[in-house]
Amino acid sequence: MIEEQRHPSSDRMPVLFVGHGSPMNAIADNQWSRGYTRLRDLVPRPAAILAISAHWYVKGSHLTVNTQPPTIHDFGGFPSALYDIEYPAPGYPELAGSVCEILGKNRAKLSEDWGLDHGIWSVLHWMYPEADIPVVQLSIDRQLDVRQHYAIGKLLSILRDRNILILTSGNIVHNLHDAFGRMQTGTAITPDWAYRFDETVKQALLAHDIETLMSLYPDTADGQRAHPTPDHWLPLIYAAGAANENDRVRFPTEGFDLGSLSMRNVVFG
Ligand code: ZN
Repeated sequence: MIEEQRHPSSDRMPVLFVGHGSPMNAIADNQWSRGYTRLRDLVPRPAAILAISAHWYVKGSHLTVNTQPPTIHDFGGFPSALYDIEYPAPGYPELAGSVCEILGKNRAKLSEDWGLDHGIWSVLHWMYPEADIPVVQLSIDRQLDVRQHYAIGKLLSILRDRNILILTSGNIVHNLHDAFGRMQTGTAITPDWAYRFDETVKQALLAHDIETLMSLYPDTADGQRAHPTPDHWLPLIYAAGAANENDRVRFPTEGFDLGSLSMRNVVFG
């Protein structure tokens, strides 16, 4: 049984949102992977990690209950070195069960059908290369609206008092169609709408302005361009839900990759 220390409210575990971008960041030594390594020094060592990734976007809220969650290589057409990476962190069935109770048994279900997808392991591989911290992954229920996702994040915040790191992984701007178009024409510059959306999100987070954050997607033109689909946006909403107005908000990494992928990381707390 893993020892979870209780923390006073002033000493809660921070919440992390990471921009994961291309799977190649898992093997490339670049500004993004070095940013993942630095995150290790920005949070206390957790007893366990509850991870939420853009790449487990399904019907229902599922929790991995495997004692040894498999490393899922959920991408195609990349070099074999990327498929060779394993991230053998243990699971933590007791935590999965506990989160199931926090969310309510009608909402959450335990699952052995998933493991750790690249949204999580491509970051943890740099942050905790020893793979010795247990990880449970929670899916994003595609049936819910943005306020319901935020409400789940709020319910999860209690984990911060149990020395558990909530790590969510998406991208604040994620338009692959735009990015690939720019790559093909050799013009990987960041468009104005991407800068504008990323900056608006940054300011809303700094101000703890949840109403503005909620209004940005899907109801604005920039939000629609930044996110043709909701999957890479929603991890930030879970993190914002688990944070509160007393948390310091920091951005240890900022910038864009491939033109229109925001690689901003956010530390709450
Ligand atoms: Zn992704």
